[in-house]
Amino acid sequence: AIELRGLHKRFGRDTVALDGVDLTIQAGEFFTLLGPSGCGKTTLLRILAGLEEPDQGTLVVGGKELTEVPPHQRSVNTVFQSYALFPHLSVRDNLAFGLKMRGLPAEKRDAKVDEIAAFIKLGDLVDRRVDQLSGGQRQRIALARALVCEPDVLLLDEPLSALDAGLRAQLQVELQRLQKRLGMTFVFVTHDQDEAMVMSDRIAVLDGGNIQQVGAPNDVYERPANAFVARFMGHDN
Ligand code: ATP
Repeated sequence: AIELRGLHKRFGRDTVALDGVDLTIQAGEFFTLLGPSGCGKTTLLRILAGLEEPDQGTLVVGGKELTEVPPHQRSVNTVFQSYALFPHLSVRDNLAFGLKMRGLPAEKRDAKVDEIAAFIKLGDLVDRRVDQLSGGQRQRIALARALVCEPDVLLLDEPLSALDAGLRAQLQVELQRLQKRLGMTFVFVTHDQDEAMVMSDRIAVLDGGNIQQVGAPNDVYERPANAFVARFMGHDN
């Protein structure tokens, strides 16, 4: 499990990005952070990724305080909205990059890359350069690259928001299936309540750096804890 206790994060003097977040995310769960622009979703995800330090609070992953685990030993991987792939390299080299950094020999790297590429239906693209691919294909590769290292936890920051509606709907289903099949923990950030409803095991609704409600999609939708959640989930009156 991932346990967040009393997380505070401020930027400059006036911006409170997180205002005392308490949250437990279970292992193997598809957990979504949902809220409007500026509510603190990305900040929370960046703290989980170890890219940002909280001003106060603790973060325990798998029984260990995260700051005590060196970054390369953390079994957490991230997929960002901007894919952060190497455009001039092939799909294969992009996928193998993390494995190479971990010292996996070339033969094993190739086998793993082929396996994950087939799994995510990119098998026929592995020798293409990334800059010759479409946005949707790149998004899949970014996902495959995060999955190939088999992290326990995958953090996804609006990974589908740049895609057209059709591809988006398709990847929503695929992502969810993949997560269940691999038994990984997904922490997924979105501002889209419909996306959160279809994909998640549980949703945390954030506003102003605070968690407004945590629950299964239907609970949050049918029994909103306050007026903000009701409005945000689409209850107009
Ligand atoms: P969005 O959906 O627009 O990405 P978000 O919910 O992810 O929004 P955050 O990016 O976490 O929100 O930002 C929370 C607050 O902290 C915002 O008011 C934002 O302007 C501020 N903020 C975030 N990062 C920084 C930074 N590096 N420096 C200064 N302020 C920041």
